[in-house]
Amino acid sequence: MKVAVVGLGIAGLSIAARLALAGHDVFGFEQFEPMHENGSSHGDTRIMRATPGEGEVYVQLARRAVEAWRTWEGLAGRPLIEWTSGLMAGPRGSPFVEACQRLSRKPAALLRGDAIHPLTRGYIAMPYEWDVFRQEDCGVIAADATRAFLLRQAVKWGARLAHGKRISAPIEGLTLKIDDTTMTFDAVIVAAGAWAGRMLPEFAGRLSVKRRVVGWFETDQPRMLPVICIDNEEGTFGMPAPRGYYKIGLHAIGGATEPDAVREPDERDAALLSEQAALLLPKHHAEPVRMQRCLYTVTPDEHFLIAPSAANERVLLFSACSGHGFKYAPVFGELAEEWLSGRPSEQLLSFGLARRGDVNRLGGAKS
Ligand SMILES: Cc1cc2nc3c(=O)[nH]c(=O)nc-3n(C[C@H](O)[C@H](O)[C@H](O)COP(=O)(O)OP(=O)(O)OC[C@H]3O[C@@H](n4cnc5c(N)ncnc54)[C@H](O)[C@@H]3O)c2cc1C
Repeated sequence: MKVAVVGLGIAGLSIAARLALAGHDVFGFEQFEPMHENGSSHGDTRIMRATPGEGEVYVQLARRAVEAWRTWEGLAGRPLIEWTSGLMAGPRGSPFVEACQRLSRKPAALLRGDAIHPLTRGYIAMPYEWDVFRQEDCGVIAADATRAFLLRQAVKWGARLAHGKRISAPIEGLTLKIDDTTMTFDAVIVAAGAWAGRMLPEFAGRLSVKRRVVGWFETDQPRMLPVICIDNEEGTFGMPAPRGYYKIGLHAIGGATEPDAVREPDERDAALLSEQAALLLPKHHAEPVRMQRCLYTVTPDEHFLIAPSAANERVLLFSACSGHGFKYAPVFGELAEEWLSGRPSEQLLSFGLARRGDVNRLGGAKS
């Protein structure tokens, strides 16, 4: 089948690679240059959680992904995930922490927050009042290295990837307008991240685009630390990063933005991130050494949204969104293949418009 993939972030790259491997004639289009920093997929690291507290369907997806990450690591000839363990924390009774414990294969007892300081040799501190669930199956994904690997691998498997090519919006069928030319496909997969609502306006009301900022923090004596996800009002998350830094982001903080005009990080962002670093990282300097902006595309229920267009069922919106998609990257290509073959898995169906359960969102709980 001749398939267009619109957008080559982590989702589009995974899809293009997998469909090319399966023998499809794949054309991938990206408006920016390779390894650009404008969408949602750039940066050195992302958190891997193999038992994500977001819900059962994500645990199933993560377990599929762990296997597939191993395959990618074999092909890449290098590790793409460093398993560090993780601390899932929040005020007592946090639904997110409770779900992490319930969904775990080893549902050990929750810890009190003040147990974390000695456990991490003083590098991470949490208040006594917090519940903490320790997960062994967490780690750090080398995000940019994964994108670079997929750019190579997709081409190796026969995908034709065109960068600096913006597909005209809106997409109205199987014929795409690319600069001055048009091309017609048997199927079109729109993995356009924050731009997806423009490409397929029928979904725009369900996709809000938000600005997020992450910051890197330095310590004089770096050591490998666990990742953290905290169900506080900010939805603070953190992970080890290259050069001994620890990276912090705020899942629940950041306003609406246009994807083409995202404000650069400023002192207000630094202050918000510093506040969290001062609370959580006693051995790190509280000023970020660097900050970076990124885009979240958020659905009202924070589920992924993967659904065919009502106007043409051979056009698929593929939005691996709401700020928690990277860890499932190797499964995205498999889900796209299921859709093309007409044999959707339960997981794929659960991301459609009709069957949407609850997601345990990170952030929003009271500290
Ligand atoms: C700050 C931050 C932290 C995160 N942390 C984690 C984490 O720890 N763990 C985790 O699992 N996930 C995390 N995520 C989420 C994860 O990074 C995203 O779910 C994922 O990157 C989404 O990828 P995407 O391919 O859907 O979108 P994108 O990466 O934005 O890709 C979409 C692409 O489409 C292109 N495009 C758009 N319109 C057009 C057009 N008209 N023509 C051609 N190309 C077009 C864009 O240029 C872009 O490259 C985080 C996200 C952010 C922002």
